Amino acid sequence: MNIQGTITLKHGRDHSVKRFHPWIFSGAIQFATETLQDGDWVEVVDARKTTVGYGHYQKGTITVRMLTFGAAKPAADLYESKLKKALQVRREAEVISDKTNAYRLLHGEGDGLPGLIIDVYSEVAVVQAHSTGMLRDRALIAAAVHASLTETGLGNTAVYFKSMQEKAASEYLLGMAAVPHVVKEHGNRFYIDWEEGQKTGFFLDQRENRKLLGEMAKGKTVLNTFCYTGGFSIYALQNEAKLVHSVDASEKAIALTRKNLELNGFDPTTHACAAEDTFDFLKDKQDVYDLIILDPPAFAKHKDSRHQAVKGYQRLNAEAMKMIKPGGIIFTFSCSQVVDRQLFYDTIVSAGIQAGRQIKVLHHLAQPADHPVSLYHPEGEYLKGLVLYVE
Ligand code: SAH
Repeated sequence: MNIQGTITLKHGRDHSVKRFHPWIFSGAIQFATETLQDGDWVEVVDARKTTVGYGHYQKGTITVRMLTFGAAKPAADLYESKLKKALQVRREAEVISDKTNAYRLLHGEGDGLPGLIIDVYSEVAVVQAHSTGMLRDRALIAAAVHASLTETGLGNTAVYFKSMQEKAASEYLLGMAAVPHVVKEHGNRFYIDWEEGQKTGFFLDQRENRKLLGEMAKGKTVLNTFCYTGGFSIYALQNEAKLVHSVDASEKAIALTRKNLELNGFDPTTHACAAEDTFDFLKDKQDVYDLIILDPPAFAKHKDSRHQAVKGYQRLNAEAMKMIKPGGIIFTFSCSQVVDRQLFYDTIVSAGIQAGRQIKVLHHLAQPADHPVSLYHPEGEYLKGLVLYVE
């Protein structure tokens, strides 16, 4: 790697990076090489000029995202070796199997590569860069993805770059593949369209929670709100739910849910799908459902909108708690990183109080093993869920 400059930390501001926290905030910096450009590789040194590691520079609150720790210069095969480690973790955790061929291969900070997300849909990898450094290194990353998947015998025919910003276009970096593409998740089948779909095309992070929902759905009347691809709906039907209704504000999401129902052998005409706002849909459905899934998009993307987001989660959950049948179960989630586990829990408590019903917590849910969190970077935990029993 070509190192373009040096970042010198202030005296006493090197503790967190020495404990493997991967972000250097602008306030911790004493000097920076003047010519640095966004995306450059930098060496980070402490006040005594001892190297603490190397990372990607980008002007902003988080000025450096660390990619290596310690004195050694980043090796030319850095991406490939980190990807192989990540694959090893997915194997150890038994994420990849003959029933599941869609998984997150690389989860940013949790896999030691801040700013990089890679999702694999059978033999196609979809890369997302959340930093300019990763954007600039994308050709190198694509080659490393192809090499590591091929060498470990998983196979790879294409690497697609899904752009997050206007600076770069979405494109195939290696090979080509047709969309939609069919993948398996715990034996259920889903169409994935990484070119047109939300994020990389699928929410892999709900895989284990969808499985649990399926196990609890037998004989129940189920409402899946914010359904997107219909993931939870299909697990419920596969496990003999009595009836499943799916709701999403987006017409495209509802069309996709219908296609996925058909793909799994269910008749979309007998399982109602509504392109409607969840809040409106909930209004006149008192005592209809035994099981409700609330999996909204992140209501807060920044700390400034946290208060509004909390109000949103509270209102949504209170509405569902009020209208669910006695003895009903709610799967409720938040994927807002700025709403932490405790705040989410407290919000659900206040929703319960507002609904005025007796409620028990059956399960605490989180993101799965292919979305790992570094112990030293608790900010990486973003998906929180609760399974509630409403008396
Ligand atoms: N549960 C899904 C992922 C949900 S993503 C899964 O398992 O894959 C969030 C979805 O909420 C998106 O599809 C978006 O279109 C939808 N959405 C956003 N606001 C909404 C609203 N007010 N009412 C209904 N759906 C909404």
